[in-house]
Amino acid sequence: MNDEVMQTITGRTELLGLLAHPIRHSQSPRMHNLAIARLGLDYAYLAFEVDDEELPAAVEAMRTLKVRGWNVSMPNKMRILTCVDTITPAAELIGASNTVVNEDGRLTAYNTDGVGAMEALRFFDHAPEGRTITIIGAGGAGTAVTVQAALDGAAALNIFNRRDPFWDNAERTLEKISSRTGAAAVLHDLADQDALAGALAESSVLIDATNVGMGALEGRTNLPDVSIIPPETFVMHVVYSPAETRFLRDCGRAGLQCTNGIEMMYRQGAAAFELFTGHDMPLDYVRAHMG
Ligand code: NAD
Repeated sequence: MNDEVMQTITGRTELLGLLAHPIRHSQSPRMHNLAIARLGLDYAYLAFEVDDEELPAAVEAMRTLKVRGWNVSMPNKMRILTCVDTITPAAELIGASNTVVNEDGRLTAYNTDGVGAMEALRFFDHAPEGRTITIIGAGGAGTAVTVQAALDGAAALNIFNRRDPFWDNAERTLEKISSRTGAAAVLHDLADQDALAGALAESSVLIDATNVGMGALEGRTNLPDVSIIPPETFVMHVVYSPAETRFLRDCGRAGLQCTNGIEMMYRQGAAAFELFTGHDMPLDYVRAHMG
């Protein structure tokens, strides 16, 4: 620990953190601690390696230790809902939470992933209100994006997923969106490229919320033919490592306006930071120092 940190941490310093497994690769501690230092706030943010089985005990420990708040990542985003006192409507609709806030021992679960995606769209001047949006993916990220777009006033959502175990989740999400929001939502098989072309023709935003293009799927894409995307469409792929997936490279070469998931990542963090501290994250400073 360097001198600067040693001088900053006192008996009044409040703890923030992250519960996930694996965790050592996470960008969140650096992002939050940069913001804390920049604003001169009295918090410290640490990563705790906690898996699904250990989660209930870890959450009770966090409550006992009066930890102010924490982020939750895989594999804990679903189970955390069973460990808290209150679940926000967005987290309940999504069925997962990435942020818990501790108000005097009462724990509230939020989901800021979808908020991050919608704030990223606003940042790039493609606010979701009133839009028709096509979303590929009905996993964790896809569900958060879809639900938040519906809650934020998107007019219509075209959701595409392959018929894998996430398909049933997509159907459940659609039912919730139809009964609880004003958005019109339709689910299609990703294999139906004619339906995809039709959906894209009426959409102004396309979000790929799958991990196709990263890790073991690096070099693969959900849209081998990007010419079916109308030229004025704004495209976002939620993956940010690699910074440019094959899909984004193809979109860039085709002259489409597109972005990766890094702005969504910063903005889900900023939304959590605001819930923890009541302060706006100094995003320009954080971006410039993340490295
Ligand atoms: P997940 O496992 O919950 O969902 C995976 C999704 O990808 C499902 O819709 C699945 O059907 C689809 N998929 C997987 N393999 C496929 C294939 N071969 N062909 C077509 N579709 C396929 O994962 P997740 O938690 O939703 O994460 C997805 C991506 O989103 C990851 O790359 C993750 O890093 C990223 N993510 C980014 C942010 C951010 O802030 N930018 C936040 C959360 C997740």
